[in-house]
Amino acid sequence: MYDVIVIGGGVIGCAVARYLSAYTGKVCVVEREGDVCCGTSKANSALIHAGFDAPHGSAMAYYNVKGSQMMPALAKELDIPFRRNGALVLAFDRQGLERLKKLYDNGIKNGVEGLELIEPQRVYEMEPNVAPGVTGALYAPTAGIVCPFLMTIAFGENAVANGVEFRLNTEVTGVTKGKEGGWTVQTRAGALHTRAVVNAAGVYADLLHNMVSGKKLHITPRRGDYCLLDHTASGIVERTIFQVPGPEGKGVLVTPTIHDNILLGPTAIAVDDREGNNTTAAGLDELLAKVGKTVSNVPTRQVITSFAGLRASEDGREFLVGEVEDAPFFFDCAGIESPGLSSAPAIGVELAETIASRLGLDKKTDWKPERIGILDPKKLTMEKRNELIRREPAYGQIICRCEMISEGEILDAIRRPLGATNFDGVKRRVRTGMGRCQAGFCSPRVMELLAKELGIGLDQVTKSGGASRFILGHTKERYQGGGRR
Ligand SMILES: Cc1cc2nc3c(=O)[nH]c(=O)nc-3n(C[C@H](O)[C@H](O)[C@H](O)COP(=O)(O)OP(=O)(O)OC[C@H]3O[C@@H](n4cnc5c(N)ncnc54)[C@H](O)[C@@H]3O)c2cc1C
Repeated sequence: MYDVIVIGGGVIGCAVARYLSAYTGKVCVVEREGDVCCGTSKANSALIHAGFDAPHGSAMAYYNVKGSQMMPALAKELDIPFRRNGALVLAFDRQGLERLKKLYDNGIKNGVEGLELIEPQRVYEMEPNVAPGVTGALYAPTAGIVCPFLMTIAFGENAVANGVEFRLNTEVTGVTKGKEGGWTVQTRAGALHTRAVVNAAGVYADLLHNMVSGKKLHITPRRGDYCLLDHTASGIVERTIFQVPGPEGKGVLVTPTIHDNILLGPTAIAVDDREGNNTTAAGLDELLAKVGKTVSNVPTRQVITSFAGLRASEDGREFLVGEVEDAPFFFDCAGIESPGLSSAPAIGVELAETIASRLGLDKKTDWKPERIGILDPKKLTMEKRNELIRREPAYGQIICRCEMISEGEILDAIRRPLGATNFDGVKRRVRTGMGRCQAGFCSPRVMELLAKELGIGLDQVTKSGGASRFILGHTKERYQGGGRR
């Protein structure tokens, strides 16, 4: 019997689990994929929004602003990269200026600090590559950039360090009232019993909610396509550059990433398929056309990859966080579209507090909020780096040449609690394959390390779990004797 089962190991589920781990309950995260951060949390703009956009008085605005305020201290605690690079929302006509003023007023009411409406001259001084014709801008200095993978993984690792169990590769298929109170969570690996459930299932959160509640929810997946530019494009903008938002969201942006790439996107396309996170030529064309309106001469020949993420848009376009009225001890985190990443710390801390108080859980006296990230030798002085390599030669073996990732980092990514078990898991933890060659060179070496560390054959190593094996058999064996084996 668990005290709390959290369904979904995205940034929201992992944040809730991390803050629940500060209390004395037995907590388990149930995730259908083989790793955390495999849903929307892995494919977004990676921004910690300042919070001027979400309507004043909404849960979105409240959690966004609080989450953004929590980020500097949290990033230090969890040893994750985070930078307040600031954001500019650009207007190109009078109508746009009126909308900027509304955004500014909304932001002030939401409690966003440092907001300014600025003149075109200042915009071009700050960002010389902004397209001509700007009539004014909203400047939000508290907007920031983060690594969404590391943020989610760090929440998860810290939860594990404080006693939370993770059941990966475990899909929840049903939730019913338990015979002795609480809930029975049916999974493909058997039934689990718990006093409380947290529904953090992303684009599937409505389906889980509708299993227990008479008040039905409906989520539409809204796809956002992106292009990622190589490091050589870094510096074209320092801040996150937005267009004035429309009804479909915050519009197409140009932003540096925390790892010094440039990200262009996203589109906003409603789709039927909850797994439909494929890009389309039409989506990418639309995106590239819109990008040119805000930033000139974007070097689109430097695109090294494209990807898409799915927003979990609930019909009311609001975050639904808290206990479901007609399903006691079932807590929703539903409709968590953008700014969900920015809001995750605030949702996590507040929901954990509510659940602990409902279940009568006490604060632990030995809770460890700190996590130490994977050692990055590039951040050491040359002297310290040489010392490290002498002590542990694996840090001297460069496996990913584009991002300069060593064998030592990869081994750490695999060996640590909640470690990587497949290629993408390593990639999200240390950035192997994230560079210009997109894993062309490093994939065989990463596969060898995974096989050795996990004690499996090379043909069992997967890209992203399930059936995504790289190697299907030995060529000579397959064709020897004229027949397939
Ligand atoms: C295009 C785009 C841009 C965005 N940009 C930003 C941004 O810049 N800043 C920002 O703050 N937010 C942004 N967001 C929003 C943010 O990414 C999301 O709000 C956040 O990642 C949602 O996290 P989650 O944990 O709710 O969902 P997910 O990350 O999708 O996690 C849900 C998890 O539940 C699992 N799951 C589902 N069903 C089951 C089941 N039956 N059994 C077990 N497990 C299950 C899934 O496998 C998944 O891992 C953006 C979103 C998109 C799509």
